[in-house]
Amino acid sequence: MENLWSDSEAKGMNDLDSLVYMSRLIGANTELVVWGGGNTSIKVTEPDIAGNDIEVLKIKGSGSDLKTIRHNQFAHLRQADIVPLIERKDMTDEDMVDYLDKCMLDPKNPRPSVETLLHAFLPFKCVAHSHADAIVSLTNNVDQQKVLTDVYKGNMGLVEYIRPGFLLSKLVGEQVIQNPNLRGVILAKHGLFTWGDTAKEAYDRHIDLVTEAETYLKDHQIKTLTHGHTHDLDPDKQKSLVEILTPMMRGLISKTSKKVLKYDNSKEIMNFLSYQESPELSQIGPATPDHLIHTKQKPLWVELDKSGDSNAMYTSLKTQLDDYAINYDKWYEQHTSGSDIKLDPFPRVILIPQLGMWTTGKDAKATTITGDIYHHTINVMTKSEGISSFISLSDQDAYDMEYWPLEQYKLTLAPPDKDLASKVALITGAANGIGKAIAATLATEGAHVFLTDIDETKVQEVVEELKDTIDPLRISGCSMDVTNQQSIKESYSQLIRQFGGIDILVSNAGIAPDGAIDTLELADWQRSLDINTTGHFLVASHSLRIMKSQDTGGSMIFIGTKNIPAPGAEFGAYSVAKAAEGQLARIIALEGGEFGIRANIINPDAVFQGTNLWSDKIKEARASAHGIDVTKIEEFYQNRSLLKKPVFAEDVAEAALFLASDRSSKTTGAMIPVDSGVKEAFPR
Ligand code: ZN
Repeated sequence: MENLWSDSEAKGMNDLDSLVYMSRLIGANTELVVWGGGNTSIKVTEPDIAGNDIEVLKIKGSGSDLKTIRHNQFAHLRQADIVPLIERKDMTDEDMVDYLDKCMLDPKNPRPSVETLLHAFLPFKCVAHSHADAIVSLTNNVDQQKVLTDVYKGNMGLVEYIRPGFLLSKLVGEQVIQNPNLRGVILAKHGLFTWGDTAKEAYDRHIDLVTEAETYLKDHQIKTLTHGHTHDLDPDKQKSLVEILTPMMRGLISKTSKKVLKYDNSKEIMNFLSYQESPELSQIGPATPDHLIHTKQKPLWVELDKSGDSNAMYTSLKTQLDDYAINYDKWYEQHTSGSDIKLDPFPRVILIPQLGMWTTGKDAKATTITGDIYHHTINVMTKSEGISSFISLSDQDAYDMEYWPLEQYKLTLAPPDKDLASKVALITGAANGIGKAIAATLATEGAHVFLTDIDETKVQEVVEELKDTIDPLRISGCSMDVTNQQSIKESYSQLIRQFGGIDILVSNAGIAPDGAIDTLELADWQRSLDINTTGHFLVASHSLRIMKSQDTGGSMIFIGTKNIPAPGAEFGAYSVAKAAEGQLARIIALEGGEFGIRANIINPDAVFQGTNLWSDKIKEARASAHGIDVTKIEEFYQNRSLLKKPVFAEDVAEAALFLASDRSSKTTGAMIPVDSGVKEAFPR
């Protein structure tokens, strides 16, 4: 493993600076830690609030990620209050958390890591802890003792697996105090601790010990996993099976709570799926307790009928998912102490040979973390098998970790989900105006949003803009032509692979050609019908098929216009095509009702800002149709309304949010004006 420490970069850094620098070096290497794993600390002498010099332990705060950690994400604690705890016999997790709360010097800092006691008990200035793949590969095998002696010749401490907490900290602390010359301590099936007088020393030792483990694994590899007989699927067949299967899978695992899915057919995953040993190997368990929190103890390995017959696929998938959930329930009953909050029984990782891996979770962050972690689980399993036979936590240890009181406590503290949490929305015409405002509003309320627009550059700009303020993993998009079935198919394929399906369609893309009927060109008439009617039909029809396959309902929102109930002269191509869109929405309400799929229409009027619809040409044309000066057009529309207020894209987005969420769960086939009150356009 490459040592990335740069003396020139670290020059002139104070203690905390160098700790931050070292933490980021560790965090950036996914072979050491993934997503929030690992922790680091430093002990410094500083004046307390009264000006007296005291020893302060600065340790990574809970909930931060080493890769991006900042100075203010470290908790500061009074070290002298923590050290004597090592004399105690035991301490519950709750008492430990309470005690540490009271040792904090600044309540504005985040809560300290759950491994704080361990850092405090080590009598060294700087401490680093990771879950390095190579170290875990040495301990997660039946020959652990021999392997560790071979590699480290007795200069390394070892503590057999117990859950993080007081006892683990005490055991490690006592071992190190008795053997101050150890090079580090390995926690079996968990990770590595190193220390030093400086951040550089702790880091150097860490990298050295991991490198020695890597070299050993390479030099002592006695076997490789065997490729099975299954051939690679034709990529088109694989793609089409994934498109059929994923929404079904999403629906089946969303019975208890809504999930999103992420699909992965990277080379590493496809290789693992092809090994003869993998069906059994995958069922042994996670590499570390930290991994288990995200992946559960076992993934679901599915043997699927790949004939392409969707009924047969559905039945075999459902049976295996149901079996997984039943077995999970049994496992819970066997190991629970009675008071635990039972977690969702469905798998976090689903593996299907020849097709790939799906990770499941409440949002895209969860599916991404789980996916990244499973790549490392594969790495550890493969390496452990290379030198011996992979082993994992016992059943009870796995249960105790998944139902760790501290994790359960976090559940009770979690804020309530936002209205659109775990939901996926696709928006057409999202590069500006109403589409963009709706995308931003739905994303702010927790939805995963997939923006599409004919203008590829512009839609990517908006995607990047939204990512500045909203979790970037929940925002995606691509170019899509609503009149082209192939283009729609490709966009939905991407949507399905990223998020697993769709719950909300905002069918918004449109154009506004003007012209009197006697002079209107056929091509302009036709183009309006293609986009303003057929475009909505194609996108809605595609969405309906996916929603039906998920079988978890859905909401379709059609952006209509005041012209549906109140058409405008010299605006025929637009008004006629949009009226057909309105009728289409009502037909979908009729056909979708029995599947819990709702369809509603929003009729905005005179939304001038940020829109492509109101080009200068259209403004001129509408001004002339109303017999007014073009500079007065916004004022004209405002004054003809009952409320005499301008209408903004954000106003339309508010109505879309209502229709997208369960707040409107009893509303379908409705037409809601957002026009400041145009009495001619009252829906009837
Ligand atoms: Zn750890």
